[in-house]
Amino acid sequence: MTSTDIPAGAPGGRLPQRRRIVTEIPGPRSRELHARRTAAVPPGVGSVLPVYVTDADGGVVVDADGNSLIDFGSGIAVTSVGNANPRVAERVKAQADRFTHTCFMVAPYESYVAVCEALNRLTPGDHEKRSILVNSGAEAVENAVKIARYATGRPAVVVFDHGYHGRTLLTMTLTAKNMPYKQGFGPYAPEVYRMPLAYPFRWPTGPDNCGPEAAAQAIDQITKQIGAANVAAVVVEPIAGEGGFIEPAPGFLPAIAAFCKDNGILFVADEVQTGFARTGDLFACEHEGIVPDLVTTAKGIAGGLPLAAVTGRAEIMDAVHGGGLGGTYGGNPLACEAALAVLEEIEERDLTGAARRIGEAMLPRLRELAAKHPAIGDVRGRGAMIAIELVQADGTTPDPVLTAAVARRCHEAGLLVLTAGTYGNVLRFLPPLVIPDHLLAEGLDILTEAFAKEAAA
Ligand SMILES: *Cc1c(COP(=O)(O)O)cnc(C)c1O
Repeated sequence: MTSTDIPAGAPGGRLPQRRRIVTEIPGPRSRELHARRTAAVPPGVGSVLPVYVTDADGGVVVDADGNSLIDFGSGIAVTSVGNANPRVAERVKAQADRFTHTCFMVAPYESYVAVCEALNRLTPGDHEKRSILVNSGAEAVENAVKIARYATGRPAVVVFDHGYHGRTLLTMTLTAKNMPYKQGFGPYAPEVYRMPLAYPFRWPTGPDNCGPEAAAQAIDQITKQIGAANVAAVVVEPIAGEGGFIEPAPGFLPAIAAFCKDNGILFVADEVQTGFARTGDLFACEHEGIVPDLVTTAKGIAGGLPLAAVTGRAEIMDAVHGGGLGGTYGGNPLACEAALAVLEEIEERDLTGAARRIGEAMLPRLRELAAKHPAIGDVRGRGAMIAIELVQADGTTPDPVLTAAVARRCHEAGLLVLTAGTYGNVLRFLPPLVIPDHLLAEGLDILTEAFAKEAAA
């Protein structure tokens, strides 16, 4: 056993679950690799923290210089079951020894079907469902729009402020933020319309009536600007991810979903970041009892193997003509085995409960920190999807400079944190759901220290 309380064979049971910093961050070996990378990879592909990873397990990421960092990122909400989770690794290895690819469109295999059966069973709503498997979140969202347009015969797609849906032409168009996602990459896809999101911290009349007011405004704009009968789908993240972990104010999503239902518009929940236990529910839609017509999933689905899915009402999914959907690698057998392992881990380790406990541990400490530092304007999130929004002395103007400075301090101390937000002023925390309590607490200590150094009390 390498750690005091984690058995071998469990997530976190292979590498010591300790922060250990032996060089500056990034260290000399990482800097050397970074020089090689700079000559081989264009700067358009960035890295939050250029430490070059050699190993990872449980709550730690080990770099080429032998530093062990605390992981508050999970590779952007992907390795929720822990990196190289033993059950995932075993099933992938066994599959790699059997066959690695046939293309499901050429000659199918059982694991693809088993993943779809599980998605059909586990996503919100007890209606009959179907699923397709693809490679990335963006590809899932693109397919959801294709299916919605086909099934409704309508062209328009409605999205929201602060939304993020990917980097392909269509999903970049659906995405709200220009820099860095859209700048210079236009012209964008037609028939995409953006509506206000119920952002409690920044709603002009305050948070109390934000949900109903934002919904009324969005519905009015859809009706007046597009015409409800022209709308195929509303695509929305139940908690805006890249946009800064914005939980739409209560009542907003149910009102939009009801409007969709009344007008034959498909409600598409983009659960790519929020799905698979991350928010303390298996899917974030469950929080307000939303039953989407279509759900897109990716990130946490397969423990790091590239896999994504669209799951939806059988009659909608079945509408598309034979051969109209697919792709060479969609539902790759290694990724399907990984997904089946992830679903077992979520259930057996009660990772929805683990996510809730992570939120319960983090929120009070972050609120305490916010009480000390006026720069923390908002503390929010659910489960293990938690964020703080940083503002200037007036209490509202975004402070991306301080956000970057605090993130840098955390990185230097060996805590991997991510930033987010339309204004770049959000620190977001996405620890693996299997992170040991002591690493979670130590990560928060590092954050506290970073604020003590960078922010006014
Ligand atoms: C990350 C993300 C996507 C895009 O997923 P990729 O796998 O990067 O293409 C889409 N929607 C949401 C909500 C995301 O967080």
